[in-house]
Amino acid sequence: MRQYSPLTILAYVCGPVLILLSHLGALLVFMTGLSWGAIAWVVGWYGIRMLATTAIYHRLLTHKSYQAPTPVLWVGCVLGAAAGQMGPSWWKAHHLAHHRHADQPRDLHSPCMPPKGVNGLYWSQGGWLLSRHFFPAKLPIDVEQDAFLRGLDRLHFMPLIALCALSYSIGGVEYLGAFCLSTTLLFHGVQTVNSLSHWVGDQPFSTHDDSRNNAFVAALTLGEGWHNLHHAFAASSRHGITLQDGQVVYLPDPTYRFIQLLEAVSLASRLQRPSEARLLARANSTVLPAAGETTPSEPNLAATR
Ligand SMILES: [Zn+2]
Ligand SMILES: [Zn+2]
Repeated sequence: MRQYSPLTILAYVCGPVLILLSHLGALLVFMTGLSWGAIAWVVGWYGIRMLATTAIYHRLLTHKSYQAPTPVLWVGCVLGAAAGQMGPSWWKAHHLAHHRHADQPRDLHSPCMPPKGVNGLYWSQGGWLLSRHFFPAKLPIDVEQDAFLRGLDRLHFMPLIALCALSYSIGGVEYLGAFCLSTTLLFHGVQTVNSLSHWVGDQPFSTHDDSRNNAFVAALTLGEGWHNLHHAFAASSRHGITLQDGQVVYLPDPTYRFIQLLEAVSLASRLQRPSEARLLARANSTVLPAAGETTPSEPNLAATR
């Protein structure tokens, strides 16, 4: 934390404060009720911002699982910040650290390392954001070198506040409550990838961690819950893949469909996806290497359509 200026520390701390305020603001819906329009506001902004988190923050910015024009990256990152997901540098730094140390002592939000059980669930679902581990040890150079993304990272709270103000201006207290409810649900939806997808579900692929394919999380997160595949092939743009009876089976993955849609209108290209031979080679029936060995880097990912 020593490398951060007081202003950056202040800006970063705004993130969890705003998320906590969203939880309180969501209670407004018990006073106002929700009209059909407000329900659409909740669901619509949940979906749009979830896609920004999954397709842009995660699969594009962090893992570069496809290529996209810079404006797509920038607009997607603004929406990712509006999701209350912090800024692009902060997000990528923490997520890459998670992949490097998944379910090992240096993984900051594993539900499987001490504390375990209910405490581990609380920790991975968001408790770690209220600890000293909230500040990344190091920010990613490529994001920091992009002046727009670096500025957005430090001013990450502005899109969230702007969307909050827009909600109030459109529908008063009812839409303010709807926005807060949407943000709260979105926050916990994203966090289930860190918690439930490292706790409950299938492990069709051999990895060195507790990552799982979890259908419930996949439904909440538009495909991110197929997390065992993701840890086995982190640079794959498609997460919805499993193995059954020695065959590759494709699972619902709305984020991947969205990326394909971007590709169809020439806003995405070079989608990465492992070949079926590589998928079968990583079947979980293979003997796992001894604990402590490093996870192999991305094997044989090919640009596919
Ligand atoms: Zn994970
Ligand atoms: Zn990832």
